Amino acid sequence: LMERVPVSKNNDELAKLGILFNELMNDMEQSFMQQKQFVEDASHELRTPLAIIQGHLSMLNRWGKNDSIVLEKSLQASLKEVERLNGLVAELLELSRAESDQTKVAIEPACVDETIERAAKNFQVLHPTVSFSKQLKAEGATIHMSARHLEQVIVILLDNAVKYSRAGQQLVRIESLLKEGNVHIRVSDKGIGIPAADLPFVLNRFYRVDKARTRKQGGNGLGLAIAKRLVNKYGGHIALDSVEGEGTTVSLSFPIL
Ligand code: ADP
Repeated sequence: LMERVPVSKNNDELAKLGILFNELMNDMEQSFMQQKQFVEDASHELRTPLAIIQGHLSMLNRWGKNDSIVLEKSLQASLKEVERLNGLVAELLELSRAESDQTKVAIEPACVDETIERAAKNFQVLHPTVSFSKQLKAEGATIHMSARHLEQVIVILLDNAVKYSRAGQQLVRIESLLKEGNVHIRVSDKGIGIPAADLPFVLNRFYRVDKARTRKQGGNGLGLAIAKRLVNKYGGHIALDSVEGEGTTVSLSFPIL
C-alpha cells in the first residue's frame, strides 16, 4: 500500500495540496489494483489450456507415443488448446488496445447503417442457416467512432447472438434508429438468455455464465468487455436486457455527430 500524507486541519494551501496528493494516491492505487487483478485473471485463463497441453505431452512422453490412437488423440486435443491460446492472446490484445486512449486521434466518422450493412453481409455469409432480419433507420447518421471499431462491436454482438442460441431458434435481429439526438443500435436474439443474477456481470472481463458450457463453445468472456470499452471510449453507452430461456437484446447508443 502506498503512503498518504497527514493533512492539517487548517484550510491553508498546504492542507489543500495534501488532500490533492492523497486523492491522487487513491486513484493510482485503484488503477494499480485493477492492473494487478487483470494480470491475475489473464494468467488464470492462460493456465488452463497450458495445463491441458502439458498433461498430454507428459503422457505422450511417458508411454503414449507408442500407441498411435493415443498419440493422434493427444495431438488433436493439444492443437485445439493451442488454437484456444491463440484466440485468447488475440482477445487480450484487443482488450488492452480498447483500453488505451491513443486511438482517439483523427478518426473518420462512421456511418452507422453502412457499417451495420457491412457487418451483416459477412455475418450472413458465415451463418447462412440463421434466420436474420434487419431494420436500418439511422438515415445516414454518422457517429464519432472509427468504422472499424463499430464493426468490431457489432460482430461481437452478432457472434454472441448465434453462440447462445437454442437449437431450432436461430433468430437474430439488428435494428438502428434515431431518437433525441442519439443513434440506437439493437442486436436481439431468441436464444438461451442470461439469468437475472448474472446480467450485471456479463460486461466484466472473463465473466461467463456457464463456465463449462462456454468453454466448449470457445468463449473467453472477453467479447462484451471489449465491446463495452470500445463503445464507452467514443462516448457511447451499452446496455443488456435478457430473459432466461427467451432471449437477449443488447442496445448501443451514441450521440449523433
Ligand atoms: P464469451 O466469449 O464467453 O461469449 P462475452 O464477454 O461475449 O464472452 O460474454 C460473456 C457471457 O455472457 C457469455 O459467456 C455468455 O454466458 C453471456 N452472453 C453474452 N451474450 C449472450 C447472448 N446473446 N445470449 C445469452 N448469453 C449471452
